[in-house]
Amino acid sequence: MRYNSAVSPITHGSMIKKLLQRVFKGKPKGGRVLASSHEARRYPRRVHGIARSSISPAALKTVEGLQKAGFAAFVVGGAVRDLILKRVPKDFDVATDATPEEVRRLFRRSRIIGRRFRIVHVMHGQETIEVSTFRGSHLDADDDASVADSGRILRDNVFGSHEEDAVRRDFSANALYYDPVTEEVFDFTDGLPDLKAGVLRIIGAPHTRYREDPVRMLRAVRLSAKLGLKLDPATEAPIPELAALLHDVPPARLFDEMLKLFLSGHAMESARALREHGLHHGLLPMLDVVLEQPLGERFVTLALRNTDERVLADKPVSPAFLFAALLWHEVLALWQKLQTEGARPMPALMQAMHEVSDIQAEKLAITKRFSVMMKEIWSIQPRFEQRAGQRPYRLLENPRFRAGYDFLLLRCQSGELPMALAEWWDAFAVADSAQRAAMLVPDSGAPKKRRRRSRRPASASSASETASGQA
Ligand code: ATP
Ligand code: MG
Repeated sequence: MRYNSAVSPITHGSMIKKLLQRVFKGKPKGGRVLASSHEARRYPRRVHGIARSSISPAALKTVEGLQKAGFAAFVVGGAVRDLILKRVPKDFDVATDATPEEVRRLFRRSRIIGRRFRIVHVMHGQETIEVSTFRGSHLDADDDASVADSGRILRDNVFGSHEEDAVRRDFSANALYYDPVTEEVFDFTDGLPDLKAGVLRIIGAPHTRYREDPVRMLRAVRLSAKLGLKLDPATEAPIPELAALLHDVPPARLFDEMLKLFLSGHAMESARALREHGLHHGLLPMLDVVLEQPLGERFVTLALRNTDERVLADKPVSPAFLFAALLWHEVLALWQKLQTEGARPMPALMQAMHEVSDIQAEKLAITKRFSVMMKEIWSIQPRFEQRAGQRPYRLLENPRFRAGYDFLLLRCQSGELPMALAEWWDAFAVADSAQRAAMLVPDSGAPKKRRRRSRRPASASSASETASGQA
């Protein structure tokens, strides 16, 4: 809105007031009725049960700093939800009515980041707190260009009131605000009763909210699996029907969400729920086919269980390994098909790997780093079957030996290869040199031919070595 210096002070004053009302109060305009404007329910500590001491010192300092400067500030979102559920939050986010610039000026160690919506990272010690300004619903925006034909929000960057910030969030359980100074929880969306009842409920009209952002369907499935919350029936009902909307979501965003889905320690439960809601088509196009073959299903199940166990035991998990596992049976099927058509094993594997990852890339932008490692894990698999001459020794030195071996183990455990093969490698890895020499399988004539080819740099049989060397 343009500032007109010719208007009288009174008109001018009321114009500003109107503007402020529009920006901060979300008054209906153009006949559009926004969420009813009401006060938040405020719950005391006795009801919500959050102890101030469970808030990270950095989040506490950020909120106090903002409040001392006269701004509203709360801990918000996943952290409040997790604390009410007596879980340890991953991180603490803060919401405020201060603009990003105002936040930036208040904290020396802070910077403004983000393109889609500008937020401020405030650093205290080692910790970073994400501070976002109350944001309004896109319906307040003056241009309709921010909504795609399917209803998906493309831009989402209008400041709003506290209440608007609550109702633009996804689930009622994610829209709770904790003020560590007064120790109250502010609730505009009946999130606290929902949480206490163990229910995950989308805020507003489910169809509209999923159309605005189809990723919310994945979040519904993921959060209910992770937190053991039941999906409210109206929240759950439209998902199968709207699942195809995930095709419009940029692949990079889907990839981020997939990582959260499968690396949260609840991969098994999440995969089951994805299938149940018909959401797996949009993510891994052929996963449903894989899951329908007994061997493929066993393999994916073992891989996911394995991942969950590692996450829950605080061991590192590699997204590359996980994606290699999720896609393996697609690679395997194509690899076998190409061989029956006459291709030699290594070139056939290379072709299968590249075709599967190309199809996948259209849906899900597996980042370069992960996709390189994923291919390394696949491409060294045939080398575990070569147990003659110098080959096993060379494989032991390969930087991907460990991941490759873990992958081989899954193949054996799922029944694809004999268990004896994994056991052989187990023993070979720890044996002394005399024992190793005795373990070698007599060389047949075939590998010699392949060894000659492997001297040519572009040959397919050396591709595994080349790929592994990049790590
Ligand atoms: P997690 O514990 O997995 O981090 P989270 O709920 O904190 O779960 P974030 O992605 O960190 O998830 O999001 C922080 C908050 O932002 C959410 O609690 C929710 O209020 C809001 N939010 C996130 N994604 C969306 C979305 N797609 N639509 C609306 N609000 C969202
Ligand atoms: Mg979070």
